[in-house]
Amino acid sequence: MARYTDAKCKLCRREGAKLFLKGDRCFSPRCSFDRRGYAPGEHGQRPRRKQSDFALQLREKQKARRIYGIFERQFRKYFAEAERQPGVTGDNLLRLLERRLDNVVFRLGFAPSRSAARQLVRHGHFQVNGRKVTIPSYALVRGEVVQVAEKSRSLHVFKEAKERRREDQLCAWISRDIDKLSGHIMEMPARDAIPANVNEQLIVELYSK
Ligand code: SF4
Repeated sequence: MARYTDAKCKLCRREGAKLFLKGDRCFSPRCSFDRRGYAPGEHGQRPRRKQSDFALQLREKQKARRIYGIFERQFRKYFAEAERQPGVTGDNLLRLLERRLDNVVFRLGFAPSRSAARQLVRHGHFQVNGRKVTIPSYALVRGEVVQVAEKSRSLHVFKEAKERRREDQLCAWISRDIDKLSGHIMEMPARDAIPANVNEQLIVELYSK
């Protein structure tokens, strides 16, 4: 499976926004974007030129991809599915991305970042409705319960999650029982319940050309 292995902080600097890809470091003074908020590379400190409409649309798409840690091919599949669904394509797209199991694990505060959540899911530490699921892209639906597997509860990462009780990524459409290390999908996320710094309309414009 393809994996992004270069420095993640470069992605934030490229997109000109904090994408919160590295857990605690993103909230500390060690955040590279806070220290060097210019684009990476030799010409990164040159003043940014006015961007064309296409460039703005492209950057927005790249930002969304990078926030959720998805490669282009899969992102296009999500977009095609969003287009097929009734309703507003941009909202559908974000809803599809949010319903991913790795994203929900991250939002529940059981992993410090989406990439860490993805790895924990792949390693079989989570169950959905009592059954082991190892597919990070698994699309959760209303009523499903995500839970840390019984045998995995003693892992340091989950003990820490219990102690810290982080709530900064929690959303209104998910409820959490931190003592049981479980979460419940209460409803499908509406756009205003998704705290993603993404202008999805620009992505729709890009792919609709
Ligand atoms: Fe982005 Fe800062 Fe987190 Fe690095 S530490 S991933 S620059 S938010």
